[in-house]
Amino acid sequence: MGRLDGKVALITGAARGQGRAHALTLAREGADIIGVDVLQDIDTVPYGLATRDELEQTARDVEDLDRRALFVQADVRDQGSLDDAVSRGLSEFGRIDILSANAGIYSQANFWELTEQMWQDMIDVNLSGVWRTCKAVAPHMIERRSGAIVLTASVNGFSPGYQLSHYVAAKHGVLGLMRNYAVELAPYDIRVNAVCPGVIDTRMVNNPPLYERMAGRADSTREEALEAVRHFHLLHGRSMMPPETVSNAILWLVSDEAVNITGVALPVDAGHNVLDGYNP
Ligand code: NAD
Repeated sequence: MGRLDGKVALITGAARGQGRAHALTLAREGADIIGVDVLQDIDTVPYGLATRDELEQTARDVEDLDRRALFVQADVRDQGSLDDAVSRGLSEFGRIDILSANAGIYSQANFWELTEQMWQDMIDVNLSGVWRTCKAVAPHMIERRSGAIVLTASVNGFSPGYQLSHYVAAKHGVLGLMRNYAVELAPYDIRVNAVCPGVIDTRMVNNPPLYERMAGRADSTREEALEAVRHFHLLHGRSMMPPETVSNAILWLVSDEAVNITGVALPVDAGHNVLDGYNP
């Protein structure tokens, strides 16, 4: 018996990284998975987005857990593609019980160096993309008067970050959306929460183009970059955290064990918020 037997979860950014870990974690607990990813690079993202191979591999891995998988290409910048993904999911599985709005991008620059395009891409994917995703799924949940939504924010949803004003603005906005959606959807018994990860070991932060930015010096190595982010975490030797650490928090938030939890921003940050004196 899984904690999510009979449930269907839609996850954005599901091909790799945290989204992939969420898909496998929820599938292991019995959920069928509708996975959405973009499969197209965005110019202002220095490390590249998911590939078709990654999307197909994650779908196969969900099926290997004896769960059904529908993995489709859709872009959270495009409402039509999200609406199509939801329609396909509903005609295949008949319901969507869980939404993980996880897709996101990352770039770094001082705010006076940001290009218009960097700003717009960040807001379009990391903030407006969450709105569009929830807009696509909410009517179905409202009709069924049931559902659990988790938005992926960040520790930067409540604290500043080095060269991250555009990311910080988007993630603060995600926590604002989360609180407002929690209020708007409560009459339908739909819960809305957020996770706020610290530094997670995925391509988003663990990639050569970003090492220089993270360590503050050209030709920085992975080790120097990782050393530079260590001060964020208090636990586990201050190392980067595996994505499953966030998946397990989401699993709990969408399970019946959290039936009275809504409007909460849950840090999954090995103590970063305590150290910096921020607490959402
Ligand atoms: P990742 O880059 O490995 O995964 C992000 C996924 O989102 C990729 O598969 C990418 O293709 C997809 N994506 C990007 N733009 C998209 C779009 N327009 N439409 C659909 N899919 C799109 O990074 P990750 O660490 O797994 O990031 C997942 C979430 O966690 C993001 O929202 C990110 O901001 C957040 N986060 C990450 C960290 C970290 O340290 N890695 C920390 C805090 C928060």
